[in-house]
Amino acid sequence: KLENATLKAELGRATWKFLHTMAAKYPEKPTPEDRKTFELFFLSFGKLYPCGDCAKHFRALLKEMPPQTSSRNSAAGWLCEAHNRVNKRLQKPIFDCNNIGDFYDCGCGDDKGKDKK
Ligand code: FAD
Repeated sequence: KLENATLKAELGRATWKFLHTMAAKYPEKPTPEDRKTFELFFLSFGKLYPCGDCAKHFRALLKEMPPQTSSRNSAAGWLCEAHNRVNKRLQKPIFDCNNIGDFYDCGCGDDKGKDKK
């Protein structure tokens, strides 16, 4: 089947939005289990992302710059840098990772009291 760049880009945008929003909600003080879960998520993601070429590049990127899991800041910063690496390869503008602070808001309100962070 022919490549459809429009659909591929749409999937990319939706996926980045999800990934960055997830990182923005990563615990500020993760437990060892939180850290393992985040790391394993990205290893699996690298195998499952439906654009095979993208996934292959991303697996190489993960080897070069493994997920940073010690805090929300490090996780969100790491993912921002990883996305910038992809931006660079695709000749897209580089995002200023200092501005990532409140950029990704899941709109979930205050989950406190529920079994969620
Ligand atoms: P996107 O890169 O999708 O970004 C969406 C929005 O996120 C931007 O408008 C901006 O507001 C914000 N943003 C930009 N940079 C950052 C950052 N560093 N941190 C936080 N937010 C940021 N496409 C290919 O053609 N070839 C590939 O090999 C390829 N590999 C990919 C690998 C992965 C893991 C993913 C998720 C996507 C990949 N894509 C690939 C898709 C590609 O990255 C883009 O999503 C797609 O081209 C649409 O680009 P866009 O210009 O709309 O912005």
